[in-house]
Amino acid sequence: MAECFYSPTELSEAIVFYQNNPDTLVFAGGTDLLIGWDNKKFNLSSILNLSKIEKLRSIHQEADGSWIIGAMATMNQLEEHPELKSIYPFLPYAASKLGSWQIRNSATAGGNVCNAAPSAEIVPSLMALDSSVRLVGPEGERTLALADFATGPGQTCLKESELLSEIVIPKIEGDVSGKYVCRKLRRSVDISLVSITAFLHFDGGKIIDARLCLGAVAPTVIRAEQAEKYLIGRTLDQDTITATAKMVADASSPISDVRSTAEYRLDMMEICTRDALTEIAEERS
Ligand SMILES: Cc1cc2nc3c(=O)[nH]c(=O)nc-3n(C[C@H](O)[C@H](O)[C@H](O)COP(=O)(O)OP(=O)(O)OC[C@H]3O[C@@H](n4cnc5c(N)ncnc54)[C@H](O)[C@@H]3O)c2cc1C
Repeated sequence: MAECFYSPTELSEAIVFYQNNPDTLVFAGGTDLLIGWDNKKFNLSSILNLSKIEKLRSIHQEADGSWIIGAMATMNQLEEHPELKSIYPFLPYAASKLGSWQIRNSATAGGNVCNAAPSAEIVPSLMALDSSVRLVGPEGERTLALADFATGPGQTCLKESELLSEIVIPKIEGDVSGKYVCRKLRRSVDISLVSITAFLHFDGGKIIDARLCLGAVAPTVIRAEQAEKYLIGRTLDQDTITATAKMVADASSPISDVRSTAEYRLDMMEICTRDALTEIAEERS
């Protein structure tokens, strides 16, 4: 049992406390942590609760056109955000696929990113949008590409006494379309077996840039870079979709675990890719 439960209202207070109490558990929505709690994984002196820091809950657009998602913004906030639903609908949709309504009411964007699960629901979509993360610690603030943040399952680049404060989606211009597709054993309250966000930039009918970000087929969320390159200069016809789906499966190296075999995940990855690209093609036709 922790001896101290600290709930600051300012990020600066949180950082000072964390610096003075390095053996502290950072608590956001607690939906990942409480599972570990039940398994008696933690032996802590203190808990740093971020839920009272209002500033971290904000989702807003900056003057330069970028979008800021505060670390403590919940999945329900993301799912219901009217402007994000209109410009990047696949991101609110990904948030809507996480757990149940009750879980989504507590589960935060920062928690999903910092937990660093390869199956993290919103990370493929955030990565497809070239997002970065702002990290704040005793030495100040730094910004890192989200793609570089997770280094393995449950492992991140966070330094001692550092917190994730916000996720930044840069301004994206041009003709873009994206889709998130995942497969779960059950329709809800289950982690994805595999997932993909396909995000394509078009000029006329041709693809001029592509992001294919894959969940649960490697130790971290990855990009299928060969398949992305293959898409450039092509139109999204049936042959292109079939070939890309095969390349994405080839880029995947899933494991077998209690949820699925590696072979099933590979098949599902190919199917999810086909579905995501087909949905984009149909929407644009
Ligand atoms: C029933 C159930 C179903 C679920 N289904 C899904 C699912 O479908 N898809 C999915 O991706 N996940 C799922 N999850 C996992 C979990 O809900 C998500 O990962 C959620 O986004 C975690 O957010 P949180 O705020 O609850 O994080 P917490 O549990 O509070 O924290 C998670 C980790 O991140 C660290 N952390 C949190 N915020 C910060 C910060 N700002 N700075 C530094 N470190 C921080 C914590 O110290 C901890 O290590 C499920 C969980 C449950 C219990």
